[in-house]
Order: sequence, then structure tokens, then C-alpha cells
Amino acid sequence: MSEALQQNIAKAEGYLARFKDNTLGHYINGEWTQGAEGQTFENTTPTDNTSLGYVVKGTEADVNAACEAARKASAEWAEMPGAARKKILHKLADEIEKRAEEIALVESMDCGQALRFMRQAAVRGAANFRFFADKAPEARNGLSLHQDQHTNFTVRNPIGPVAVITPWNTPFMLSTWKIAPALAAGCTVVHKPAELSPLTGAILAECAEAAGLPKGVWNMVNGFGTEVGKALTEHPAIKAVALVGDSATGKLIQAQTASTLKRLHLELGGKNPVIVFDDADFDRALDAVVFMIYSLNGQRCTSSSRLLVQSGIKDKFMAALKERVANLKVGHSLDPETEVGPLVHTGHYAKVTGYFETAKDDGATVAVGGHSLRDELGPGNYVAPTLFVDANNSMRIAQEEIFGPVLTAIEFDTEEQAIELANDTIYGLAGYIWTANTGRAMRMANKVDAGMLWVNSENNRNLPSPFGGVKMSGVGRDGGDWSFDFYMETKNVCIAHDLHNVPVLGR
Ligand code: NAD
Repeated sequence: MSEALQQNIAKAEGYLARFKDNTLGHYINGEWTQGAEGQTFENTTPTDNTSLGYVVKGTEADVNAACEAARKASAEWAEMPGAARKKILHKLADEIEKRAEEIALVESMDCGQALRFMRQAAVRGAANFRFFADKAPEARNGLSLHQDQHTNFTVRNPIGPVAVITPWNTPFMLSTWKIAPALAAGCTVVHKPAELSPLTGAILAECAEAAGLPKGVWNMVNGFGTEVGKALTEHPAIKAVALVGDSATGKLIQAQTASTLKRLHLELGGKNPVIVFDDADFDRALDAVVFMIYSLNGQRCTSSSRLLVQSGIKDKFMAALKERVANLKVGHSLDPETEVGPLVHTGHYAKVTGYFETAKDDGATVAVGGHSLRDELGPGNYVAPTLFVDANNSMRIAQEEIFGPVLTAIEFDTEEQAIELANDTIYGLAGYIWTANTGRAMRMANKVDAGMLWVNSENNRNLPSPFGGVKMSGVGRDGGDWSFDFYMETKNVCIAHDLHNVPVLGR
């Protein structure tokens, strides 16, 4: 074990001790609570599947208390001037930045993502708060729409208490991405962190508390989707639900919210193509292909899990790719050298390793990896970065979201074939196009069905740009003003110039 890893483990243990010694509760109406019934569940670390402590398993009663707190705090928070909300949210970002090291180490231990990436969690989380904080004073702005005898103007008001339900893959950053605009818009929040990685959700609530958010504006209930998540989405006080999660969960939430007719933003799964044409910049495309599936353990909604490679460069590209994949450093998530860490949970490990057999059954070839690394690396959820070749797009490994460090490569000949293959999926979250031909890039950008496309780039995030998917990858967009559109209701006010004839009846 390297000295750097030993030091990181020692530091992480210091930060994790309180979670091991005390059951993690909910944060409701400005108080930490062990919930109405006090049942718990165990939280484990993917690095070796040992315990990180216990977490209160929320109940409907806990959800009711959190929603009631959010409802009561709603009017005052909505009426607070945007400039005052801006100040509080910047303070929250300061609190996040102060705890950056703790957030990175705890998150890495809780969800298995390599520390080299999780060092960005606090930076990106704070940036999300600062971006939306600065927009808070103008969040209510609308349009002025003229007619000859009337003037219409629109104004936006916060929609009310909202539910934010987040997944386990990059829990801290994703939570801030949803909660920051909700608070900036003037909504109160009930957050349900993922049951598989709940720890940094609690740190985030502590940052909110330290920033002086009024009681009830931010509430957090831990527990399972089928209980806490369901009760939250069904609660009448909740006006909108922002989910980041699996497409199956998105479908359930659409059904659960039907009777209370809630607004939904669903950011769901993907099977995103990266399309490499013969004329692509070979080295940059290779770097990006490797990065976009093997970083974050492939547990990333925008990962490019399907490589479509044109026949002219296929042999050369695949040879270089195999070498790079075989060379990836798998290890403890806190090792600074680690590029691929352990998968989040034993259940997810079983799912991902199951696809190694599926690939063979379907007739694909395992070119690299395709096995567990538990014998080499110990009892954590370690798998070898994997590359499937000789695949076609109808195979399960090309159609299903594996959500691990697993890439399926498929050859194509023409631009038309590339488009057909890219779109032959139930998903439509993201896509990546590598070509030196601008006209082709534009044609592809028009024809590939996805909410987000990158040309000659890996996933580059721009906070003012819209984020979201089409087809089974989701409903709605956030980012920039799209977030305010989601968290706010638009009201139209029509004012007469007293020039028109009012219709007369019964005179
Ligand atoms: P998941 O859908 O299993 O869980 C997400 C959250 O939903 C958890 O907090 C869970 O408890 C909750 N939940 C589950 N059932 C629920 C129900 N019936 N009602 C309410 N809440 C419920 O997803 P996961 O396994 O945690 O995360 C991985 C998935 O998230 C992948 O499919 C990935 O693509 C997707 N994801 C999407 C994006 C995006 O922006 N599109 C980003 C990250 C992850």
C-alpha cells in the first residue's frame, strides 16, 4: 500500500468516525432527528464492503414531517428578496469549499468513485450554488408581450415545496445541481439522497445549516425509494419532483405523481454512442473514448458506453484502445493513482459482472477484461475495465445500460449507418461525434436523437446550457434559465390601455 493511500485512508477514517459511531438521521425543520420509528439500515463502503455505520430508514411519518416543514417555510422563503437568497447561497458555497477535502474523501469511500475525480465534487458543488445564487435576483423576470390595446407581461413565482431525489453515482455534485436552482428560485426542498451513498447528502445539509438557511427551507429524509421516495412523490404539499435516476424509477414516479398532477423533471439513464469517423483526430478521439466510459467507474449517465467506429480506422483504433484499456489502473478509491475504483455495491457488482457472460452468450468477444479483480485486489467490488468487440447493436450489451467500466464497440461504414446505429436505442441522453468534417458534424448533430451532443469533445459542462435527455432518458431540461422554468410557475398579467371596446351584454 502506498504512503499516499495510507495517509488518505487515515484522513478518511477521521471524517468517517462520526458516521460509524452515530446513526445518521434526517434533517427536518432545522433539526437532526432519528425519525418517527428509528429503524435503521447499514451503509457499506465498496472498497471492502465493511460497514460505514447505520442510517435511519425513513417512514411515511418522517416524509410527512419534512413536507409539512417545507410547506410552512415556503411563503417566507419565496418572499425573501432574491438578493438576500443570493447572499445565503454564496455562504453555502463557502461552507462547501471549506469542507472540500472531507467531501472528497467521504464521497470516495461511500460510492467508490476514485478520489482523483471526487476532488472535483466540492468544487463543482460550490460552483453550482454560486451560479444560481447570482441568478436569484433575476429569477422572477419575465417577458413583455405587446398587443395594440393591451400589454401582457409575465412574471415567475416559485412553484412551492419541491422533492429532489438523487442517485448514488456522484451524489454530492448531483444533489447541488438540483437543489441550488430550487433554492435560488425561492422553493423549499425535501431531499432524498440515494440509500447506497447517503453520507455527503448529510454534509450538504450541514453546510446549509451553517449558512443560516431558515428552518424548514432545506429538509432531508434518508431511506429507500420504495418507501421514502414513493411517499415524497405522492405528498400533496410537494409541487414538483426532480429525479436523477434509472428510467424504471422515472416511470414509477410518473405513475406515483399522477393523482396529484405534479411537474416532473426526470434525468434518467443512457446508452450513449461515441461515433468516431475515419477523419477524426485519432489521439484526441482515443483519449476521449477512454475517458468517457472508464472515468467515474463508468457509473455516469453521460458515459459513452457504445463505441461506433468507422471501418477505415477500426483496426488501428481498436488496437490502440485495447492497449489503453488493459493499462487502466484499478484500485482503492482513495489511492491517488487509481483511475477505476470499486463499483458502488455488491448488487451492482453482480449486475455488471453478469454482463460478462451475457456478452459471450450473445456472441460478442471479450477483448479486454471481462472478469472480477477480487482475487487481486481484495473483497471490494473491483472489476477489470472491459471492452467487448465483434458486437452488433441488437445485443443486450449494446442496448442495456450496464453502468460500469464496460464498453461495447461496433463497426460501421457510412454516415447513414452511424446515424441508424446511434438512434437504435430506447435511450437518448447524450452522444459524441468525432470528425474533422464540419458539414458532417452538423448533419450528425441534426440527426442523432439525444438531448446533448458533443462534437470533438468529451462531456464538457456549461452551467448556462440545457441538460437532459429524450426518449427513455428523461423528460425536461435544467441548467441556466431552464432550471428556473422548472422550479417556477409563469403567470401572465394582461393590462388594457383602455382603448378597446368591452363587450356589452344586458344593457
Ligand atoms: P435509482 O433510480 O435506482 O435511484 C435513484 C433515486 O430514486 C434513489 O434515491 C432511490 O431511492 C429513488 N427511488 C427509487 N425508487 C423510487 C420510487 N419508486 N419513488 C421515488 N424514488 C425512488 O437510480 P440509481 O441506481 O441510484 O442511479 C443510477 C441511475 O441514475 C442510472 O440509470 C443513471 O443513468 C441515472 N443517472 C442519470 C443522470 C442524468 O442526468 N440523466 C445522472 C446520474 C445518474
